Amino acid sequence: MGAGGEPLLELSGVRAAYDGITVLHGVDLAVDAGRVVALLGPNGAGKTTTLKVAAGVHPPSGGRLLLGGRDVAGARAGDLARAGVCLIPEGRGVFPNLSVRDNLWMMTFTGRTRAEIEDTAYTRFPVLADRRAQPAGTLSGGEQQMLALARGLTTEPAVLLLDELSMGLAPLVVADLYERVADIAREGVAVLVVEQFATAVLKIADHAAVLVRGRVPWQGHPDSSLHAELSSYYLGSAP
Ligand code: ATP
Repeated sequence: MGAGGEPLLELSGVRAAYDGITVLHGVDLAVDAGRVVALLGPNGAGKTTTLKVAAGVHPPSGGRLLLGGRDVAGARAGDLARAGVCLIPEGRGVFPNLSVRDNLWMMTFTGRTRAEIEDTAYTRFPVLADRRAQPAGTLSGGEQQMLALARGLTTEPAVLLLDELSMGLAPLVVADLYERVADIAREGVAVLVVEQFATAVLKIADHAAVLVRGRVPWQGHPDSSLHAELSSYYLGSAP
């Protein structure tokens, strides 16, 4: 909860369009501090667009985007980043030709020293310390995702937006990454995770929402009934 008891991040009736074609038709979502919310749904449902709106990368065409209870709809990505919103985009967003260390050093714009940034990253992800001189593009997919998370966490975000963390990774690697995400949430961060395939994230999610064709037909506790809901939405048999 934010200071006023409201969710840290809230989307209310959010609509969004590309070139006049509406792809989000009124999305409602709320993420409290210290909680993980999973946003699930099939290809093209609007999951990435929802994260882009929440990060200020894509403007909403309607509805409200609230950060700590304050309406920030229309604010620019840089302003939202400074206000504590961190988006880790699909595809990890690390610079493949730069070493792990150089990727981390780029975060000195946050005002922290190179040593502080490296210490924090290596404490959380010790494997990155062994790989510090290696080009990021030669890391395993899971290690690249850890580097992307380490970079994002340098900004000490209040809200962490994760897009398809599991993309292309083996199930055990994904499970390990989501344990780290659960740790991050336990430190008080509000985490919104987008995934197409749900199994791994549901183990750590406090709340789940299903997005289908730009609407949220179901949200609630990620208990066993969700699996039935999901298969009907993915197979297209639900209304
Ligand atoms: P996936 O799981 O396949 O990544 P998604 O649920 O994240 O899908 P979005 O990427 O948000 O879905 O896309 C929602 C809709 O908006 C899709 O129909 C997509 O084709 C369209 N779209 C996304 N980005 C753009 C863009 N830059 N320009 C035009 N249309 C876009």
